[in-house]
Amino acid sequence: MAYDDNNIFARILRGEIPCKKVHEDAHTLAFEDINPQAPVHVLVIPKGKYVSMTDFAEKASDAEMGALNRAVLKVVEAKELKEPGYRILANAGANAHQEVPHLHIHVFGGRALGPMLVKK
Ligand code: 5GP
Repeated sequence: MAYDDNNIFARILRGEIPCKKVHEDAHTLAFEDINPQAPVHVLVIPKGKYVSMTDFAEKASDAEMGALNRAVLKVVEAKELKEPGYRILANAGANAHQEVPHLHIHVFGGRALGPMLVKK
């Protein structure tokens, strides 16, 4: 899938739409999810134009990849999630119900999060 420059997170990165910033560095931005699913729900995104984790893993530099992991850690530290724990999740594509076509890692915490997936 080609990257869509008008997706909502691209617009947040350009400053066209506000966000509640949790962390920022040269390669990443982390901000509060607008519709939180847990007491802590932060999105961590690369500043580069990557549709999904697949796209990112195929094309991103080692510096960008390292920065994304470190940015998750910064969020975990800022939100005091190391103990008793947290969950990270990145939806990719239709089966995962990815809504925004710019790679984002969800960081959830602040309560017991229950089983990983709802059984159907
Ligand atoms: P996905 O389903 O693609 O994994 O997750 C997209 C996430 O982006 C959702 O949790 C949704 O609440 C969040 N989101 C959508 N639009 C906005 C927005 O304009 N600002 C923020 N902060 N989050 C958004």
